Amino acid sequence: MLAGTAPAPALATASEADATTTYGSVPKASVSYVPRTANTQQCEDCKFFIAASLKTAPGHCPVVAGSIERHGWCKLWSALPNGTPDNG
Ligand code: SF4
Repeated sequence: MLAGTAPAPALATASEADATTTYGSVPKASVSYVPRTANTQQCEDCKFFIAASLKTAPGHCPVVAGSIERHGWCKLWSALPNGTPDNG
């Protein structure tokens, strides 16, 4: 580094950017959550799903605990009001 130059600030990672998000508290096992499903009902089309800022990173759910995969599913799945896929 050259003398007198300040180091560049580190860019926030997706996980840091999402660190302030409130995650749900319902255990995954109690709602039969699976991280991947071939069903047409998937987390990315659920009204509860909140995508990560980085599309390839797991999102979260204000109901179910922990990180949530966009191609996952649980028995609380509920369609988006307008049926539009990918609310992230
Ligand atoms: S399907 Fe379940 S885990 Fe996935 S976003 Fe909806 S409520 Fe959350």
